[in-house]
Amino acid sequence: MVAILEIIRRLEGSLSIGKGEFIAYDVARETGDPFKILVATILSQNTSEANAYRAYDELKSRIGLEVHSIYRASLSELEESIRKAGLWKSKARAIKELANLIIERFNGEPNGLLKLTVDELRDMLLSIPGIGVKTIDVLLVNIGYGVIPLDTHILRVSRRLGLTEARRYDDVQRDLHKLIPPKLRLKAHLLLIKLGRTYCKARKPLCSVCVLNDICPKIGVEKE
Ligand code: SF4
Repeated sequence: MVAILEIIRRLEGSLSIGKGEFIAYDVARETGDPFKILVATILSQNTSEANAYRAYDELKSRIGLEVHSIYRASLSELEESIRKAGLWKSKARAIKELANLIIERFNGEPNGLLKLTVDELRDMLLSIPGIGVKTIDVLLVNIGYGVIPLDTHILRVSRRLGLTEARRYDDVQRDLHKLIPPKLRLKAHLLLIKLGRTYCKARKPLCSVCVLNDICPKIGVEKE
C-alpha cells in the first residue's frame, strides 16, 4: 500500500489551499463560530464552493449570520437569500431549524454546541432534516476533532490510491482513520479533495501530470 504520509507530503508540496476553496474551512478560521461553520457547510452541499460563497455573502448582507437574525427572519426571506446555493428550500429549512434549536437549547449562544460530547452533538444535529453525518464531520474536523469528512472526491481518490476497498461512508472513514493520525486529518481531508478537483478527476484522471503518478496503483483507472 502507498504510504499515506508520503501522499500527504507530496500533495502539500504541490497543491496550495487558498481562500475561497473550502468555505467551511475559511469560515472556521475567520470566525470559529460553530453555527456559521454549519451554515456554510449546509450551503455547500451539492454545489460548488463558489455558489456556496455567493449564497453565504448574500445571506450575510440581507439577513445576517447571527443565530438571532436568522431565527427572526421568515423562511421565505431565508430561501430568497440563499437561492444561489441551489436546493434553497431544504437548505433554508435546515438553517432555520438549526437557529431554532440553538435558541431553545442554548439561549441563542452557538458555543453551547461546543460543550456537548461528540455523541450528543451528533445526535442533536442529526435530528435536523438536511444535516447529515458528513455535515457534522465537517464541523467536527474544523473545530479540532480528528475526523475525516468524506465527499465524492475523497471516496474516489481513496479507492484509486488503494487506501480503501470500501464503498460505504463509515467503512471508508474507518479505513482512512486507521492510516491517518488525528492531527493530520484536517490537512488530509483538504488535500485529498484538492487532489480530486485538480488531477484525480472522475471521468478522466490526469495521471501523467499528477504528483502521485509513480506511486499510485491507479485502482479502477482505465489505462490512457
Ligand atoms: S496518479 Fe491518477 S489515479 Fe492516482 S491519484 Fe493521481 S490522478 Fe488519481
